[in-house]
Amino acid sequence: MRVYYDRDADVRLIQSKKVAVVGYGSQGHAHALNLRDSGVKDIRVALRQGSASADKAKAEKLKVLTPAEAAKWADVVMVLVPDELQSQLYGGHLHGNMKKGAALAFAHGLNIHFRLIEPRPDLDVFMIAPKGPGHTVRSEYLRGAGVPSLVAIEQDATGNALEVALAYASALGAGRAGVIETTFREECETDLFGEQAVLCGGLTSLIEAGYETLIEAGYAPEMAYFECVHEVKLIVDLIYEGGIANMRYSISNTAEYGDYCSGPRLIDASVRSRMKEILDDIQSGRFTSQWMSECGAGQPSFKAMRRRAAGHEIERMGEKLRAMMPWIGKDKLVDKSKN
Ligand code: NAD
Ligand code: MG
Ligand code: MG
Repeated sequence: MRVYYDRDADVRLIQSKKVAVVGYGSQGHAHALNLRDSGVKDIRVALRQGSASADKAKAEKLKVLTPAEAAKWADVVMVLVPDELQSQLYGGHLHGNMKKGAALAFAHGLNIHFRLIEPRPDLDVFMIAPKGPGHTVRSEYLRGAGVPSLVAIEQDATGNALEVALAYASALGAGRAGVIETTFREECETDLFGEQAVLCGGLTSLIEAGYETLIEAGYAPEMAYFECVHEVKLIVDLIYEGGIANMRYSISNTAEYGDYCSGPRLIDASVRSRMKEILDDIQSGRFTSQWMSECGAGQPSFKAMRRRAAGHEIERMGEKLRAMMPWIGKDKLVDKSKN
């Protein structure tokens, strides 16, 4: 596996280009601000007319265009609107307007890998996919560090796609941490699997099931919250810092013994076989077509699940307990008025 760093990139290649960042959400604000602070002078944020994100971008003195205007102007168009809107954005605003030989860039491989977008053959198509949330891409950059990212080249019409992609990654701060070479397919399938089986789906379901088990057994919800939600961060920080063994070095022997005995009882062969089913749904495209038809119908079940999950009493308990720890709210990663 090839890994690139700042020393492998010539950041001037991106500093001298006109870069349009379409979307100013989690990733969009981080890309636009990091590139600006890395000396990319000609940068525009592209948003729909009347977008709620426009005021946030203008507050940072970024110029805002429509996606069609930005496509006509830019040498590099980074697509950072939600995945489910990208094919409409490309077909309706980018395909007919982008300059010949310009670069079309993504932070996730879904639309290209599953052929929801078929880019014009004269375009370079690359991906710079940060392996972290957009808010962390920005906060790490400001700290002088970076979030590791993946780079993939789908089309190299100009012969320079990799050089431009690496320059982009460097300006984003990723070259400080490492830019790992991959393909759109590998990034897309592993990203979907990780978020569904472990990071988002797996972890939140594990947390809720643990919390509910303690409550149903008659324990105080405050206790359940501390043991099954709040302390997740303390454990994850130790794993993040030095791996699983580092975490086990820090916890008590009692906790470590219980970890070895009970973890595999819970995550047993049946869970592993359902993980394989989830991976199969991803690889076959079943997950993506189901998600796209949900979007085509206006996301009725997605919105219902979001509403139901946000109404869970675990959220109210969290609010109450976080009020006892006001330092948690300082230096927030997510400030909805700005990013
Ligand atoms: P987001 O929902 O946070 O932000 C989307 C932005 O796009 C908003 O500013 C919205 O106003 C704008 N937008 C929506 N429709 C638009 C349109 N038709 N034209 C122009 N602008 C429009 O999105 P996000 O989570 O930052 O995701 C963007 C991309 O980054 C996706 O491909 C995602 O998979 C990828 N990605 C996200 C993360 C993350 O941390 N959120 C991490 C890695 C990769
Ligand atoms: Mg993802
Ligand atoms: Mg404990």
